[in-house]
Amino acid sequence: MDIDTIAAISTPVGEGAISIVRLSGQNAITIANELFKGKDLYTVDSHTMHYGKIIDPKSEEIADEVILSVMRAPKTFTCEDVVEINCHGGLMAVNRILEIVLDRGARLAEPGEFTKRAFLNGRIDLSQAEAVMDVIQSKTSQAMNVALHQLDGKLSRLIKELRQELIETIAHVEVNIDYPEYDDVEEMSHELMKVKTKSVHEQIVRLLQVAKQGKILREGIKTAIIGRPNVGKSSLMNSLVQEERAIVTEIPGTTRDIIEEYVNVRGIPLKLIDTAGIRETQDIVEKIGVERSRKILQDADLVLFMLNYNDELTDDDREIFHLLKDLNYIVIINKTDLPKKVNMDEITELALGHSVISTSLIQEKGIDQLETALSNLFFSDVEMTNDITYVSNVRHIHLLKQSKEALEDAMNALELNMPLDIIQIDVTRTWEFLGEIIGETASESLIDQLFSQFCLGK
Ligand code: GDP
Repeated sequence: MDIDTIAAISTPVGEGAISIVRLSGQNAITIANELFKGKDLYTVDSHTMHYGKIIDPKSEEIADEVILSVMRAPKTFTCEDVVEINCHGGLMAVNRILEIVLDRGARLAEPGEFTKRAFLNGRIDLSQAEAVMDVIQSKTSQAMNVALHQLDGKLSRLIKELRQELIETIAHVEVNIDYPEYDDVEEMSHELMKVKTKSVHEQIVRLLQVAKQGKILREGIKTAIIGRPNVGKSSLMNSLVQEERAIVTEIPGTTRDIIEEYVNVRGIPLKLIDTAGIRETQDIVEKIGVERSRKILQDADLVLFMLNYNDELTDDDREIFHLLKDLNYIVIINKTDLPKKVNMDEITELALGHSVISTSLIQEKGIDQLETALSNLFFSDVEMTNDITYVSNVRHIHLLKQSKEALEDAMNALELNMPLDIIQIDVTRTWEFLGEIIGETASESLIDQLFSQFCLGK
């Protein structure tokens, strides 16, 4: 267990009302007390806040006026002594305080190290630690709910129950192998294995069934709006965005910063791709050509293909229909307020059973139907309720799939009446894969890698 004291700035870098420097570890209170002019922190109650000043020991000058909270182990985020120094917002104050704290012997925390300590000290398991990051990165309230449930341990409890069922079954079989003279144990072993593997298998399958939705809620649906110039792509984007719900994230570090825009449609986050393309060139199909649309389409989980009510179909449109063949898409016939020129029968035929929605964006008509079509497309087979345990994390989904396969190996072997000790190997593998989800059988390098994805100070 790490015993050194770590420190980091735990609020976003930039100007704000307050910023927080957080310390965690066995010397957190000692370090803070040496710098703090106010109450003696050794004597204050746990989970209390105190007004005072941070003094720079080198210059003996006031570094900032602060409110400092003291939280003693073990009932803290990390299970260690934690001190949070609330100073003035802005870069100067917070950096100065961090520097002083580091000078006094704290070590700069690695990304995610506070949460990692919470995990290593047994306060949360791995899937809960990952949920902390999901809560921070949630794009919609639905995604946040999924993350909060996971943080609360809903998924962990379910996984633990499944593992418990498996381990009990394994234990029975061991008894059978060790004491074969007990006839009744031997008899029930094969049967018991069948019943238990079937029941665990059913529950894993159920988790995987809603995983698609969980992943969508967590990551958003990559959505491309395509169509000829002037069909109304920007208008559609604006009307989706307008309904108070766009979230814009900038991803720095690329040559030209990519702007991702999320639109929240009935709790489903749509991640609009190539919005810059739509805004700047005003047309995806004609100016950038069919080739480039093909590329954009490759990336998309969903395509909104726009046509106009008062335009006849062109050959390019027909070719786009062809490109869309294997994709998730919705056809939008816009400008229904204008005279009809389009051949709806031909569109219905080309759309091969996909939804065709009519809109007049200028009259604000049809958006509701479009939203219904969208949510039917992704959530038709499940109700979005809080009762469902959504698995949303790719790592968890992958491990669940591996558990399912290992379990199916065991089930097949059971059908073939193979010896129980062979079957037991596959059941044990299932148990291990499930354990990796909550971190009980996860390797140290996996754990390091997962936590390194966190932001600094978390
Ligand atoms: P884009 O080039 O596909 O992005 O199309 P825009 O969204 O820029 O729209 C092109 C023009 O069509 C604009 O002048 C819009 O005001 C107009 N427009 C958009 N939707 C409608 C509609 O439902 N009815 C009518 N009559 N005009 C519309």
